[in-house]
Amino acid sequence: MAARRPHTPAVPGKRFAVLDPATGEPFGEAPDQQPDELDAVVGRARDAWHGWRADPAARAGALLAAAGAVEAAGADLAPLLTREQGKPLAESYAEVARTAARLRWFAGLGAEPLTIADGRPVRSEIRWRPLGPVAAIVPWNFPLQLASAKFAPALAAGNTVILKPSPHTPLATRLLVSVLSAVLPKDVLTVVTGHEPLGARLAAHPGIRHVTFTGSAATGRAVARGAAASLARVTLELGGNDAAILLEDVDVERIADRLFWAAFRNCGQVCMAVKRVYAPARLCSDVAEALAQRARAAVVGPGLDPATRLGPLNNAAQLARVERCTARALADGARAVTGGGRPAGPGWFHSPTILADVPPGSPVVAQEQFGPVLPVLPYGSLDEAVEAANGTGFGLGGSVWGTDLDRAEEVAGRLECGTAWINHHAELSLAQPFAGVKESGVGVAGGPWGLHGNLAPFVLHRPEEG
Ligand code: NAD
Repeated sequence: MAARRPHTPAVPGKRFAVLDPATGEPFGEAPDQQPDELDAVVGRARDAWHGWRADPAARAGALLAAAGAVEAAGADLAPLLTREQGKPLAESYAEVARTAARLRWFAGLGAEPLTIADGRPVRSEIRWRPLGPVAAIVPWNFPLQLASAKFAPALAAGNTVILKPSPHTPLATRLLVSVLSAVLPKDVLTVVTGHEPLGARLAAHPGIRHVTFTGSAATGRAVARGAAASLARVTLELGGNDAAILLEDVDVERIADRLFWAAFRNCGQVCMAVKRVYAPARLCSDVAEALAQRARAAVVGPGLDPATRLGPLNNAAQLARVERCTARALADGARAVTGGGRPAGPGWFHSPTILADVPPGSPVVAQEQFGPVLPVLPYGSLDEAVEAANGTGFGLGGSVWGTDLDRAEEVAGRLECGTAWINHHAELSLAQPFAGVKESGVGVAGGPWGLHGNLAPFVLHRPEEG
């Protein structure tokens, strides 16, 4: 029997155009939902919550079915994701697979009650309760994967979810929710699409009990201010400016591929991409040249072309930001070892760029470039390198690269961030906590901590004798 092709349900009302980053041209439309629709949406999510929270075994079964449904829809989801996001098709398939894996992982995770035994003649039992309707607001760089990082734990915990994707990438998310709606009870997971102030009004809605947000630090602050009105719980996964520190004994050729893709995957639009490389001064030009070789060899093109390894930036504003950062670095005296601007032709492409001789205060070092441009910076002493790595407001990730693993571990332990890697970067397990420090975030996602981020403890005290 032929598989039923998923379709997204029609929403009456205005629509807005969705653009293909490889051409800059519109190719689809999404509902332009208005904030005054949110009362009804949140009300339905509240009603659906009572049934969804009641039966953990049924929930686990539904989430397992959801994982299977996502896998079965991969051939529909992945090309649509590439079309609106820009990433190479293989990366879209990987994102769909990760979305399914996350649903499966959280389906198997329960929050067991705990008993406190502290010598008192009382049995204190901690039970875990869901919070209510959750607002999940996500950016455009990994629309499906980041959405599932929010709705999989929230649903597994027994909450209902209203998901708001970026207006740059609404279509694959709408299709995903339609696929999931076939196996989840009605109104347990809803998607709303549209422009601001839709997200702001969702974050501030009095019926929402947890706002879980991924995006920029500036928007994160606005979301936290909005949620303060209802005192809903807030989880924020924000930006990063991750440094990679290369040690004196690093084998440059051995690590160059891994380091390059840790910076350039998804065209550098990764919160945990390597955004700055610090190398011992004597190795700096070798490192920059090894990375530049990879940049020259990387095939840049539309994500649907099977040869493409680097797609376009997702949107015109992001391309303009990357161009601004690069132009400013070059004006500040930096040298483009390769790249340095955008190629001729349509679409929001930017050549993969390796910069040397960049002044430390230049925005491409001090801020988050979020694109295919990487500065390689020299250091004199390791203390200097660690201080520079820690010297931004962000604290998402970091990495140390070298041959002596003990030495690398000692240096990695000094990084002020949520996750540090040795000879890798941005490799994440579903089982680990994911949290930034400083301005990179509030709260913890991932693993059992992600589940608990969606639960409240309920403590029952019972005396041993009446
Ligand atoms: P953004 O902050 O502009 O938008 C994120 C989401 O918030 C979008 O859905 C957007 O429509 C919505 N939004 C915009 N204004 C809002 C408001 N006032 N109230 C509520 N919602 C609002 O971010 P972006 O440009 O889409 O994504 C890039 C940023 O996301 C980068 O800074 C990147 O580092 C960060 N990011 C972080 C992580 C992480 O896990 N830490 C992961 C991916 C991306």
